[in-house]
Amino acid sequence: MYRSDSDGLQTARDQLVSFSARLLGDGLAVGSAGNMSVRLAGPPGADTPGGADTPGGADTPGADTVAITPSGVSYAEMKPEEICLVSLDGTKLRDGSQETPSSETPMHLAIYAATRAGAVVHTHSPEVVALSAARTELPAIHYAITGLGGPVRVAPYVRFGSAGLAEAAVQALDGRSAVILRNHGAVTYGRDLAQAYDRALLLEWLARTYRLALSYGEPAILSAAELAEVTAESRRRRYGERRGGAS
Ligand SMILES: [Zn+2]
Repeated sequence: MYRSDSDGLQTARDQLVSFSARLLGDGLAVGSAGNMSVRLAGPPGADTPGGADTPGGADTPGADTVAITPSGVSYAEMKPEEICLVSLDGTKLRDGSQETPSSETPMHLAIYAATRAGAVVHTHSPEVVALSAARTELPAIHYAITGLGGPVRVAPYVRFGSAGLAEAAVQALDGRSAVILRNHGAVTYGRDLAQAYDRALLLEWLARTYRLALSYGEPAILSAAELAEVTAESRRRRYGERRGGAS
């Protein structure tokens, strides 16, 4: 979550531009494909729920706004002042740029409405797109998938930019911080842009390792119990670190 004052807004704009520039080098995008956004918390003093990285959280105050990358501007040339601002109901705000907000703005807003996401990243990364056309789920061949909440569902195909796609994405996200859009791409969210972006990289890596595993034959899949054990152990270790007990 980002503050909605001028410092918070500038941080959001700068991060959206710098992470967008990374998409090309990291192999997650070509041209201007994909988009990303961050949520700016409501006015100071608004009671905003914490735990932004937890999937399936409650609604946040209606005063939140969203900073989102513009439509059709190449990542290599994007400037902080070109970042658009929209309210959670989709109204374009005057404080943002005159550019047109991303065509996937409805999907970003639907995810903010349904979760505690602080940032959303959408890519057309190649391994995920390939998997989306051939599978209904990315299974757990590696325990790192617990970082996304578990096996990642593939949402049914619906045209880009539509309310139907937004709805399909939110439904398939249930209990996850990542979803794969059939014949389209990937969506991840996190407490901030760095976490959402790391999850996009993780999702692409998991899709690639799954494809490599398939080349050997039928891969072994981790069970729900094995994944639950990993999640519990990760929580225990994080708790230990916060108490200064890491070793
Ligand atoms: Zn897309």
